[in-house]
Amino acid sequence: MKHSSKLILSLGLIFLFPLFNSLQAEQKNNQEYTAKILEYTTAKFFLTELVDHLPASDTVPTPQKILGNIIGAPNILHYTADINKYMRAVAEASPRVIAFSIGQSDEGKEMITAAVSDEKNIERIERIKEILRLLADPRKINDSEAEKLITEGVPIYWITGAMHSTETGSPEMLMELVYRLAVEETDFIKAIRKNVVVLVTPVLEIDGRDRYVDTYRYKKEHQDKKSLPLVYWGNYVAHDNNRDTIGLALKMSDNLSKHYFEWHPTIMHDLHESVPYLYTSTGTGPYNAWLDPITINEWHELAYVEISEMTKRGVPGVWTHGFFDGWAPSYAFYLAMFHNSLGRFYETFGGTGADTLVRTVGGQSQRAWYRPNPPLKAVKWSFRNNINLQQSALLFALKHVADNKSKFAKDFYLKSKRSVAKARAEGPAAWVIPADQKRPLAAADLVNLLRKHGAEIHKADKEFTLQKEKFVAGSYIIRLDQPYSRCVDMLLDTQYYNPDDPRPYDDTGWTLGALHNVNTVRATDQKVLEVPMTLLEKDVKVEGMVVNPKNAVAFLINHRAENALMKFRFELQEMKMQAAETSFKAGDKKFNPGTFIIPVKENPEDMLSRLKNATKDLGLTAYGVASVPKVKTHELAVPRIAILHTWVFTQNEGWFRLAFEKLGIPYSYISVHDIKDTEDLKNKYDVIIFPPVMLGKAQRLVNGISSDSPIPWKKSEKYPNLGGPDSRDDIRGGMEFKGILNLRRFIEEGGCFIPITNNVSLPIDYGMVESVAVVEPKNLKARGAVLQTRIIDTRSPISYGYDRTLGVYFAGAPVLETGMKAVFGVDIQELFDGEAKGRASGRGSLKDADVIQGRPLQPPKIKGAGTGIPPEYREMMKLYLPPDLNTIRVILRFSQKEKLLLSGLLAGGEELQNKAAVIDVPLGKGHILLFAINPMWRYETQGSFFLLFNAALNYNYLDAGRPKPAEKK
Ligand SMILES: [Zn+2]
Repeated sequence: MKHSSKLILSLGLIFLFPLFNSLQAEQKNNQEYTAKILEYTTAKFFLTELVDHLPASDTVPTPQKILGNIIGAPNILHYTADINKYMRAVAEASPRVIAFSIGQSDEGKEMITAAVSDEKNIERIERIKEILRLLADPRKINDSEAEKLITEGVPIYWITGAMHSTETGSPEMLMELVYRLAVEETDFIKAIRKNVVVLVTPVLEIDGRDRYVDTYRYKKEHQDKKSLPLVYWGNYVAHDNNRDTIGLALKMSDNLSKHYFEWHPTIMHDLHESVPYLYTSTGTGPYNAWLDPITINEWHELAYVEISEMTKRGVPGVWTHGFFDGWAPSYAFYLAMFHNSLGRFYETFGGTGADTLVRTVGGQSQRAWYRPNPPLKAVKWSFRNNINLQQSALLFALKHVADNKSKFAKDFYLKSKRSVAKARAEGPAAWVIPADQKRPLAAADLVNLLRKHGAEIHKADKEFTLQKEKFVAGSYIIRLDQPYSRCVDMLLDTQYYNPDDPRPYDDTGWTLGALHNVNTVRATDQKVLEVPMTLLEKDVKVEGMVVNPKNAVAFLINHRAENALMKFRFELQEMKMQAAETSFKAGDKKFNPGTFIIPVKENPEDMLSRLKNATKDLGLTAYGVASVPKVKTHELAVPRIAILHTWVFTQNEGWFRLAFEKLGIPYSYISVHDIKDTEDLKNKYDVIIFPPVMLGKAQRLVNGISSDSPIPWKKSEKYPNLGGPDSRDDIRGGMEFKGILNLRRFIEEGGCFIPITNNVSLPIDYGMVESVAVVEPKNLKARGAVLQTRIIDTRSPISYGYDRTLGVYFAGAPVLETGMKAVFGVDIQELFDGEAKGRASGRGSLKDADVIQGRPLQPPKIKGAGTGIPPEYREMMKLYLPPDLNTIRVILRFSQKEKLLLSGLLAGGEELQNKAAVIDVPLGKGHILLFAINPMWRYETQGSFFLLFNAALNYNYLDAGRPKPAEKK
């Protein structure tokens, strides 16, 4: 049976591709490998003539020779080490391939890239790199030089695989692709070799790939047991590793970024798997508004080459347009887009690991204008099919670039030129980051991030005036007459996402000035380009210092919500420090509430030298004073902080861990099981932060994962990649009721619990908080937007160091209601006022009193008259008034709808305006802080980190500044 079906399949192929088969020269095929390709492909229309065989080679090993199986064999996935081994073996054997390390993963494993081209190109590879480097900066060459360089050089096409660990096909396919490109002697492949350098980075998320292969092997070897969920992918985040290109916080992003700047690849192509059968990226729009339109045209050009070549060969389900939008720049392929190259991606049809199975397609099997030849409703799908489609389409793209090599190199040069021209054409001319702003460290951080993105940044040599504003000497000027002007403008500008546009695929706003709490100025006046300025040659480091150390009795460090202050507390943890509870003056300097006061007397003798070192290193300034300021203070803690995770979803907490580690702030990493099993949590921790869990319904947090047999998540000899960053013999269950009780006790005994975004439902649904409710808005759309909040409670320690407004990241939920409406679910007043709302039609204006004819005019006010709520109800309601009704403190509120949107998408803003963004709820001796906003998102929200840090440092004194009952209105 098997043989005959294979035969029919082969015959079918021969008939299907008579035209294309003539392309294959006399080179012999590896017959065994070829037979397996045909065997593992489930239908002839999932093959093309490019991949229906494997050419034989006497010198270069096939994947089968090194790894034992052909690529795409059922049930076989390879570890990164095997993939690297294969790439190196090919490089060893072929003069057309080199392989080299590009860095390490977050967990210390090696990332590699292989380069394939013809021998001549490989020999002159350094020159090819140099040519692209020169073309990348048109300020240094003229057009005729560029023309020569374009003729001399070749474009570089960089393919990356396995960003997402559950998407398993690409690294396998890339091994075969490298082999094929190295050995095949058809005119088709020769043209690619001659005119393109192909870079292949087979695995981006190294740590996650190896974890996934372990879970897949576990599944195959324990058919009787439940399969293991991939609890973690990388060390910090899962799917969001492809959202790090703004913050560049993961090692992977760092490696890729350096890789980009070394090679300046003309095209970067990232391989993903989700929808059937092959989606090639353009997008539904709105497209990113800062890109050169040439880039968008290139998207379409290559997409339609692939669609048309594949469709011609009878391959169904190759399409474009209807998948992602094209808006946000946080994806890895933006490393190319930011720098005038082209970034693109595929989504191909994966499966479960390397299984063969019948797969049914829903809506995407429908015809649409952008999918005239849709996927089939149901089909037997194999791992090899996925390999065939990815590889074929890529080869068509590579061939198109090879055939149009000058065009793509010219486009790259032209886009670079137009980026340089931006300052004087469409503008703005520059962005200015004033040096004299309140948070010089945050400004320096932002400058350094932009430098990491390749931006050139200058410092003004002297004071200047621009657009009626004065800027001090030393202000940062980012001229937009530089090659990477679009990247800078994209990251600093304001985004507007029309709510009527297609549903956004991801975040809609990312304005870094607002998110970093740094003042940035868009300079449209071209005079800014004439300001005398000096190029920064290295990263900015703000030098800290100690002022007036002589005879000082205390040192003051002003609180401006600079993240370094948190690190400072931990660097000098055995020192006694106080926080000022209000603002005060010392000499002629004004200090903010929260200012650190470090008394000399109570601290060790060597404190001054240590203070000098720490402030110098962290860029903080400590002022010595001859008398201790007369201001109410409390002790600043060195809090024991725990970051709490579930086993249901670990991703978003990874961004919190990452931020803590980057800033050098110690924390314990605990799971819901630790909450359940630790009765005396307060003995171990002072602050427990509970970062957002996707679909974080309270019940799921409490009940966790259910299964009738244990689910281990830990390393073993057989599965060395499982486990980590946290591990456990059995991850079933959640916090349970026991955990709720432990958590409640922790808070009542003085701990601070901080659930973020949807996790607020845990303390609300389980009765720890009563006067706050999560409400379902009807019209609100604010997906991943940057919104403005107002600091309402300026005396709460949580707002120390902040100004009156703060730009925050809001994911779109939750919306929090407070007070009576939260308690009763309805507006009681409104309920009883009923139809008496407003005034009846009658005499006078809207504000006048009506006059009823034929009876005495009622006096306007009667003593003792209250609301329309009947007295008997008012008495009864008292029984239901919760204890926290008058003790909750709203620290931040969303601004009025007119001012709410700073960047991104906002519709239905009236449902969010004035709603609480951060609430402090006292419980026993401790506090619950409810965050509707996410203060630690994707390493982009540095400006709101300190809301958490303030809470932690002052966890024991969060009641400071609380209005006394008498003061309450
Ligand atoms: Zn993906």
